[in-house]
Amino acid sequence: MRVARILRSIPTRISILGWRKPRVQALVHADLWVAGEGPPEQLPILDHHECGICHHVKSHPVSYICGHSHCYVCIRLWLEHEWMCPDCRTPMYHDPFRHWGEEASLASAYPDWNDESIVNYSWDGLIFPKAPEVLVPDSP
Ligand SMILES: [Zn+2]
Ligand SMILES: [Zn+2]
Repeated sequence: MRVARILRSIPTRISILGWRKPRVQALVHADLWVAGEGPPEQLPILDHHECGICHHVKSHPVSYICGHSHCYVCIRLWLEHEWMCPDCRTPMYHDPFRHWGEEASLASAYPDWNDESIVNYSWDGLIFPKAPEVLVPDSP
């Protein structure tokens, strides 16, 4: 009984790579929209408008240091299971950034796309893996 309790308290979020997985129970799509159920699906007219996860025009785009961006909701759900950019596999050691410029350019590229959905850009509950230490060579 006691052993069972100890075993249960051992974190189950360590992946095979030794990276920490999210602490909280995995979120689902509906948890992430502050209002509405998400944007109407919009087919992209240019490849770089397309989210690599849902294949529609990015809604509430967030980007990472590799330069790729995705819908906030798509990448937030992705981060429940993976710690790499879905497009290029760059390891993600911190939360993506809100991409204001892309948000504005997508809004002007799709004037009839009535994306009235709202998200709060929260990354709560995610514990990002620690970045490996960079080895600095000794100075000569
Ligand atoms: Zn998406
Ligand atoms: Zn990438």
